[in-house]
Amino acid sequence: MSLPPEDAEARRAVAPVICYPTETLPQPDMALYAAALAGAEEVDKIRAAPRDAACFEVPAGHFFRIDSVEGPQVGDLNLWNARDLSERFYSGKTRALHGTHVTTGDRLWSSFPNLRPMATIVADTLDWYGIDAFGGSVHDVIGTRCDPYTGALLSGQAYHHCCHSNLTRALATWLDCPVHEAEPHIHDVLNVFMCTGFTRDTGQYFMKASPVRPGDHLTFLAEIDLLGALSACPGGDCSAEHSSDTAQCHPLEVTILRPKAGALDRWVRPKPNAYDRSHGV
Ligand SMILES: [Zn+2]
Repeated sequence: MSLPPEDAEARRAVAPVICYPTETLPQPDMALYAAALAGAEEVDKIRAAPRDAACFEVPAGHFFRIDSVEGPQVGDLNLWNARDLSERFYSGKTRALHGTHVTTGDRLWSSFPNLRPMATIVADTLDWYGIDAFGGSVHDVIGTRCDPYTGALLSGQAYHHCCHSNLTRALATWLDCPVHEAEPHIHDVLNVFMCTGFTRDTGQYFMKASPVRPGDHLTFLAEIDLLGALSACPGGDCSAEHSSDTAQCHPLEVTILRPKAGALDRWVRPKPNAYDRSHGV
């Protein structure tokens, strides 16, 4: 290891600055959204079976709610622009803008060149959790999704019901195409209900038993027409392990809700990003 310089402590003591201050981000009208959600009616319900995934569509200006049912369960969520699958959820930029975990008022941002809000979180029954003594919190954008490639790397095992494979199969069924055509559309997820963080001593990604219980839910407004896919992770509540059939798993439900006519009249659909894409040429 390299010898520390004489002023090592002084260098460590420099205060951090926030990379992306969000004061200038366009803010959603949360009071408008909450009022629209209160009057919304259920129009569809989709169930992701344990160790499996399901696709669903949400028209712009509708809500979707992910419910914990039957028992504690973590979900891995992918989102696409329903009209153009190349515009998809960008977990890295969402993390850079909102932090490692998201809750009410935070937005799920889409990939370049659009970089616009795809969905806004309007209700979160786990918002009481905050950040625990281990640095853990709920609904992360730091994990990726459990997948068979990392499993093969670490254990040499082939497990076919990781979230990556569940999402791939669900999208292939939805698009009516082979799994190898659907797979490139699968991307890093929002880990719904999952409790995660980084260990303070080694900086490693950790998970712990999710605080979610049946009746808990996370609700979004679709800012654009969305195609979603939700996997009920083989890790169950992710208290012990994933990428195996060991954990107890439960289904997850997605409910689509339509607001009353006129309830979102003041809502403005997000436009594609304003950058002209000339890149200095
Ligand atoms: Zn998973």
